[in-house]
Amino acid sequence: MNFHRYYPIDVVNGPGTRCTLFVAGCEHHCPGCYNQSTWRLDSGRPFTAADEDRILRDLNDRRIPRQGLSLSGGDPLHPQNVPAVLHLLERVRQECEGKDVWLWTGYTRAELSPEQRPVLALIDVLVDGRFIRERYNPSLPWRGSDNQVIHYF
Ligand code: SF4
Repeated sequence: MNFHRYYPIDVVNGPGTRCTLFVAGCEHHCPGCYNQSTWRLDSGRPFTAADEDRILRDLNDRRIPRQGLSLSGGDPLHPQNVPAVLHLLERVRQECEGKDVWLWTGYTRAELSPEQRPVLALIDVLVDGRFIRERYNPSLPWRGSDNQVIHYF
């Protein structure tokens, strides 16, 4: 998996203070996407074991309490990103206590494949669906268009 940006302190992508990772790769190509530079799987740079360790360290850093981790992109559920996302989230669940995980994807929950579905067991909130420009609503919290759904698990 490649990624574009990592924010160790983020107050925009989800509730509270968070760590946020924007991964590379998205096959939805929504007209009006504000993140087109992330579409290619080989854009950005490789997400290494050191990057994963850093996220775990930041989540457990008591000097700056984080509510949780946000995964966005690109699409964290692009089939080629799923193994790395599962690995990261399994570690978050094992090594970080009391953190919530939000994940944004262009797939709807109903569209998820058997390979993608195990991610749902490791997250707290899924914001799903493609961005539809005609349904853009800037007053919606945590999503861009009103077809997108926030699923709380
Ligand atoms: S799913 Fe998100 S990142 Fe992918 S094209 Fe649509 S708006 Fe852009």
